[in-house]
Amino acid sequence: MSGEKSLFTRIIEGEIPSFKVFENEHVYSFLDINPATLGHVLVIPKEPAPYLHELSVESASEVGKALPRICKGVLEATGATSYNIIQNNGSEAGQTVFHVHFHIIPRYQDSTHNFTWKPLKLNKNDASLLAKEISGHIY
Ligand code: 5GP
Repeated sequence: MSGEKSLFTRIIEGEIPSFKVFENEHVYSFLDINPATLGHVLVIPKEPAPYLHELSVESASEVGKALPRICKGVLEATGATSYNIIQNNGSEAGQTVFHVHFHIIPRYQDSTHNFTWKPLKLNKNDASLLAKEISGHIY
């Protein structure tokens, strides 16, 4: 990892301005500069890990605790009743800022954004092996 501060660390530190909606010792949340819909916010750990799987247990649990509270705040403030949580890891997954972040994106009747994929069929023969393989790598 380079020693350079991530864009979001610079936001946390106030070097780059943001419209903050929540902050505590471990978590920061602010309006996305290019919102998909009204009320699109980002929730980030203060720990500067690029990817979710690199986060410390403490940061991960603090983000996990903050997320539902911030979602509620977004819904109450915007009047939306539906929302998506998006969390991209890696450029192939669409990540452009390499500091863990969760998007909370309210969805309205006239919202047009989508996150669809063409579903494959789970291969039942391989599934058991695959599940065991993944399971064996969870520490
Ligand atoms: P990603 O594509 O990495 O999942 O999402 C990065 C998000 O960060 C994008 O939705 C983008 O609009 C937002 N973003 C990038 N730069 C800034 C910034 O300087 N300020 C704010 N508030 N959001 C930013």
